[in-house]
Amino acid sequence: MSTSVSFEFFPPNTPVGVEKLKTVVQELGALQPQYFSVTYGAGGSTRDKTLSAVMDIAGAGFEAAPHLSCVGSTRENIAEILATYRAQDIHRVVALRGDLPSGTATAGEFRYASELVSFIRETQGSDWHIEVAAYPEVHPQQRYAARDLQHFADKMRAGADGAITQFFFNADAYFHFVDEARKLGVTQPIVPGIMPFHNYGRIAQFAQRDGIEIPRWVQMKMEGFMDDTASIRAFGLDVVTQLCERLVAGGAPGLHFYTLNQSALTLALCGRLGLGAKS
Ligand code: FAD
Repeated sequence: MSTSVSFEFFPPNTPVGVEKLKTVVQELGALQPQYFSVTYGAGGSTRDKTLSAVMDIAGAGFEAAPHLSCVGSTRENIAEILATYRAQDIHRVVALRGDLPSGTATAGEFRYASELVSFIRETQGSDWHIEVAAYPEVHPQQRYAARDLQHFADKMRAGADGAITQFFFNADAYFHFVDEARKLGVTQPIVPGIMPFHNYGRIAQFAQRDGIEIPRWVQMKMEGFMDDTASIRAFGLDVVTQLCERLVAGGAPGLHFYTLNQSALTLALCGRLGLGAKS
């Protein structure tokens, strides 16, 4: 059985970034991903750039999925964005609550991603494929794991077709999360989000901010490499390859790569894993 792959980008900010992304799409497109997704800036700040990147990907012949966050938005705003995508024949979306930029007061008409999922299903029918976010190590704003899991199950029940996880380096956290979700009746695929070690310092910062464990022995080795980028890259590739191998062997239905708009590490990982390319 083959494992599907999907790749995530952020919308580029500059014309050079836009051109570079087109090249990256071609390079990763050779792996025949299920789809490419494009993130959506907090509070809708990248609305036009997300749309534009999605259209570039679709124009290159690939399936594209915009992310869409609802916090701070009205039903009218969201309906308008969905109508724009529908007019462009886009029917796949990653539906999120999102976070308001700090200092922003407007709550909008949606409180949680589950409300966005219900809204899409009620107003758009069943022809949208909706992915949502999952947190094997618990959402950083939630104190109780059981409550977070229950909210996740409610969000799936609201009409999601699947979930993509936050990145993690502890495979047991993923397997446990999937087992617990199944006990609550979640039957949809839960695809692990994979973060290659593009830049150890930055990833360690994200991980600390969001409560994601980087095993101590990995931290110690990475820090010990200092600015030896070749060793960081080689070791990071080994760690993430082994993680992916465990996930695939344990039944993960696919792998979603956080590419940070770069192809090299993701291509190297997929090559080692024998994923994507048709043999
Ligand atoms: P929700 O599922 O709504 O959960 C948010 C919090 O509310 C959790 O703590 C949950 O336990 C709690 N909760 C849920 N329902 C209830 C309820 N009924 N009562 C009380 N509490 C409840 N952010 C962006 O801005 N743009 C992006 O493009 C983006 N893409 C992402 C892609 C993935 C795969 C992932 C994992 C995250 C992404 N994020 C993105 C980050 C995400 O927006 C934040 O983590 C945000 O804080 C939560 O969004 P959510 O959709 O998971 O929210």
